[in-house]
Amino acid sequence: MCGIVAYIGYREACPIIIKGLRRLEYRGYDSAGIALLNGALNVYKKKGKVKELETFIAEKDTHATIGMGHTRWATHGEPNDTNAHPHYSTSERIAIIHNGIIENYAALKTHLQQQGHVFHSETDTEVFVNLIEEIQKQNQCTLEEAVRLALHEVVGAYAIVVLSRDEPNQLIAARKGSPLVIGIGQDEFFLASDATPIIEYTSDVVYVNDHEIAVIRNGKLDIRTREDIQQTPYIQKLELELDSIEKGGYEHFMLKEIFEQPKSILDSMRGRLELEAGHLNMGGIRSYEQKFVNAQRIIIVACGTSWHAGLVAEYLLEDLARIPVEVEYASEFRYRNPIITERDIVIAISQSGETADTLAAIELAKSKGATIFGICNVVGSSIARATDAGAYTHAGPEIGVASTKAFTAQVTVLTLLAMIVGHKRGTLSEPKLRELMVELSNIPTKVEQALALNTEIEQISEIFKDATNFLYLGRGYNFPVALEGALKLKEISYIHAEGYPAAEMKHGPIALIDENMPVVVIATKDSSYEKVVSNIQEVKARKGRIIAITTEGDTVIPQMAEFVIEVPATSEVLMPLVSVIPLQLLSYHIAVLRGCNVDQPRNLAKSVTVE
Ligand code: GLU
Repeated sequence: MCGIVAYIGYREACPIIIKGLRRLEYRGYDSAGIALLNGALNVYKKKGKVKELETFIAEKDTHATIGMGHTRWATHGEPNDTNAHPHYSTSERIAIIHNGIIENYAALKTHLQQQGHVFHSETDTEVFVNLIEEIQKQNQCTLEEAVRLALHEVVGAYAIVVLSRDEPNQLIAARKGSPLVIGIGQDEFFLASDATPIIEYTSDVVYVNDHEIAVIRNGKLDIRTREDIQQTPYIQKLELELDSIEKGGYEHFMLKEIFEQPKSILDSMRGRLELEAGHLNMGGIRSYEQKFVNAQRIIIVACGTSWHAGLVAEYLLEDLARIPVEVEYASEFRYRNPIITERDIVIAISQSGETADTLAAIELAKSKGATIFGICNVVGSSIARATDAGAYTHAGPEIGVASTKAFTAQVTVLTLLAMIVGHKRGTLSEPKLRELMVELSNIPTKVEQALALNTEIEQISEIFKDATNFLYLGRGYNFPVALEGALKLKEISYIHAEGYPAAEMKHGPIALIDENMPVVVIATKDSSYEKVVSNIQEVKARKGRIIAITTEGDTVIPQMAEFVIEVPATSEVLMPLVSVIPLQLLSYHIAVLRGCNVDQPRNLAKSVTVE
C-alpha cells in the first residue's frame, strides 16, 4: 500500500509531488510527507491526509527541482508525524520513502543501534535508510553502491526512492514486490507507484521490474539489476485519460464508478463479444485454448472483492465448461502446501494487479508447473507481467477504495472465458451460447435500469442508516453477491455485516435475527427461487426486517418483504452483474448518510501490496 511519487528536472518539484500524492491518496492516507533537495535536504511530514501536509508546508521554503513524497498506510508504527515518511538517516544526509515491509528490520535495527545509529520512529523504513548510511560509511562508496548492497541485506517487499544531500543531482529508486513506474519527459523524470501522477506530463513510461535499481543522474536514466548488470529500459506508451481519474461532477469517486458500470461492462466485452458475427474472442487465451480444454482443474486465487468475482466464476466454469474449480484466498493458498499439477490452470484475479498475496500465489503455482492466467485492470501491472496469459478488464481507473466497477468487469471477463471454454469443450451448445451472447450484450442496459433505482435505494438507506448489523443472504449465483454486498457495507459504513448462503442461515446466524436485524435477501427468479422464498419466510417468522432484491414483476415476495427493490430479469448465470448494483448503492448511501468518507474508508487502502 502507500503511494510514492518523486520528481527530478527543471520545474518546481513541490506542486508536482503534492498533486501526485493527491492522486495516489487512494493507496494510503494516514499520513503524508515530502522531502525536497535544494542544497539542503528538507523533510516535512504530517499525520493525516495530504491536505494537512499542504497546510503545514504553506509557510515553508519548498523551492527545489528535486523531491519525493509519500502517502502512508502504516504497517509498522501507528500513524503519527514521526512515523510518517520520508525518513532521514541518523546524520540526516540521506532520506528515503518506502512502500512495503522490511521483514528482518528488527535484527538489522539492533545491529545498527550498536553501530551508533539513532532511531526516532517505530518503522521498518527508518532501518532501511540507516542501513544504507552504514554501508556507505563502511565501504566509502557512492550512494548507488550503498543502495545496491543494502538491497542484498533486506528481506521483504519494497519500492523505495532515496535522496542524498551529498549527491545532489540524483534520485535513486528500487523495487521488489511493490510497484514503481518512471515517466520520461524532456529533461525531467517522474517516479510513482502508478501512472496517475505522471499522465499530464508525459505518456512515455518505464515499469521498473523486481530487483532493479533505477538511477536518474544528470538528466539520464540508468537501470541495473541488483547484480549491477545494465538493463535497456523498455519504454511504453501510457493509455490513460486525465478525465478518467477525475470525479467528473460526482460527489465521490465511488458513485461515479458505480454509475460508470454500463460503460465499463461494455468496455470489458468490447472486441470480445461479436454478436453480429456470432464470435467470442479473447486474445489472451488463444494460444492456451487447448490447455483450458484439457484442464483437469481450475484454481482461482484472489483476495477481497476479486475473490467474490472468483466465486461467481466457480459457478460459471462448472456450469458452462464442466471443469472442477476451486476458489482460494491467495493469502491462505500461498502458505499451504497445495497440490498443483501441470494440468491445472490457475486464474489470478486482482484489480490493481499488484496484490502481494496474489502475486506470491502465482509464483508458487508457477513453480509447480501450472499455467497461470491473470485477470487484472491495471495495464502493465506486476500480475499482468507475471502470468503466462491473461485478459485485462478494461474498466478504467478505479479510485474509490471500495471496488465496484472492477468487480462487474471481472465477472464479465470471467463469463466470457467460461463461455469460450465451454463452447470449445462442447459442454455449452451452440444455441445456448448464442442465447447467452445476446443476453450478455443486453447487460449494460439492464445495469442502467438497476441504476435508475438510486433514489428509491437512498430512501431505504435513510431508514436503515443507524442499524448496527446487517445480514445478506443469497443462493447459487447470488451467494457471492450476498458476500460482496456485506463487504461493501462493512468497508465504507463500518456497520457489521455478514453474507451467508441463504440456507446456511439455519445453522447459526438465524439466532441473530430479531425485529432490529435488517436482512437483505437477493431473491431473483432462478433455479433456487422457491427455496429462497422459504428462507424469507423463516426470517419473517422471526421478525427480521427484509429488504428483498427481486426480479421485476415478482408478485410473491412483495407480500412478505418490508422493502422490495426490483431489478430487470436476465439469465441466471448473468444475474450477479445486475443484482450487485442495488447493493453497491445501498452501501454507498448508508455510508454517506452516516457521514463516512466513502472514497477513503478508515484503515483501508486500495491496492494491498503488503502481505
Ligand atoms: N512499512 C512502512 C511503514 O509502516 C511503509 C508502509 C507503506 O507501504 O505505507 O511505514
